[in-house]
Amino acid sequence: MNDSVTRQLALTLGHLYPDQLNLYGDRGNIIVLRRRCQQRGIELRVVSLGLGDALAPDEYDMLFIGGGQDREQAPVAQDLHDTKGIGLWAAIEDDMPVLAVCGGYQLLAHYYRPASGPDMRGLGVFDAWTIHKGPRVARCIGDIAINWNGSTLVGFENHGGRTYLGTAQPLGKVLKGYGNNAEDATEGAIYRNAYGTYMHGSLLPKNPHFADHLIGLALRRKYGKNDWDNSHINETGEWTDGASSSESLEIKDDDPSVVLTPLDDRLEWEAHASLLEHMGLQDAAIAALSNDNGLKVS
Ligand code: GLN
Repeated sequence: MNDSVTRQLALTLGHLYPDQLNLYGDRGNIIVLRRRCQQRGIELRVVSLGLGDALAPDEYDMLFIGGGQDREQAPVAQDLHDTKGIGLWAAIEDDMPVLAVCGGYQLLAHYYRPASGPDMRGLGVFDAWTIHKGPRVARCIGDIAINWNGSTLVGFENHGGRTYLGTAQPLGKVLKGYGNNAEDATEGAIYRNAYGTYMHGSLLPKNPHFADHLIGLALRRKYGKNDWDNSHINETGEWTDGASSSESLEIKDDDPSVVLTPLDDRLEWEAHASLLEHMGLQDAAIAALSNDNGLKVS
C-alpha cells in the first residue's frame, strides 16, 4: 500500500494594480475565485501588486488584472515595462493562468492608442492592438454574450478602444454585444493560459465554469497532471497523493476543472440564463440551465 501523503491545497493569486484598474466591480472576480476555492477547502491567498511592486512569478499560481480609464492605464503601462513585464511574461510562458479584463487586456496586447495622448506600449502577450475611436464615436457599452468551450460566457462591456487581433486566438465569438471591435464578432484573446476579455460584470460570478477553468489550470500547473481521485481531495481540501484508485480521474487536456468537486451553482446559472434571455438568446438560456451544468431542468 502506498504511503499516501496528505497536503493542504493552496494557491496564491496576484492582483495587479488594484488601485488603478478596478472598474465595474472587477474585484468581484477575486471574491468568486476565493469563495470557490474555500468551498472546496482550497486556500486562496490574494496578494496585491501595485505600481513599483516587483512581480516574482514563482510566488504566484494565477494573476488578475482589471479594467480602468485611459488616464489610469498610462502609469500602469509604464510600470508593466519598467517593473512587472519580465515577470509577467515568464509567468505566462510557464502556463500560469492569467485573467485580464478590458484596460488590463488592452495593455497585454501590443499597444493601446487612447482617445487622446500618445500610444501606450503594451507587453505584446496577445498579438493584437487597440485603437480608441475618439470622444465623438460611441463607446461599446452594454450586455454581452459569447460562445466559449461549448457553452456561453456573459458579461457587461464598456470600452472606447477597439481591439484588432493579429494571430491571437479570440476567447469566443460574439452572440450579442460589441466584443473586441464591433466589426469582426470576435471577443477577447487567448495566449497559452492568459485570457483577455472585455467582459466586466464582474465576469466570474455569472460564469462559474470559467472560474473553475482558471482554478483547475492553476491546480494542475502547481500540483502536476496526476491521476486525481475526487476522494483524494477531502472536504478540508487535503489531497492524498500516492494512493490511486480505479475511479481516479485523468485531467482531460481541455477541461482542467474536472478535478474540482462540483458546487451548487443553480443561482449562478439562473443569473447567467436570465442575462441571455434579456439579450434574446433563449436557446442559449435553456442550454445554460441544462443538466450539463449539473442542474435539473425544472
Ligand atoms: N480605457 C479603456 C477604453 O475605454 C478601457 C476601459 C475599461 O477598462 N473598461 O477602451
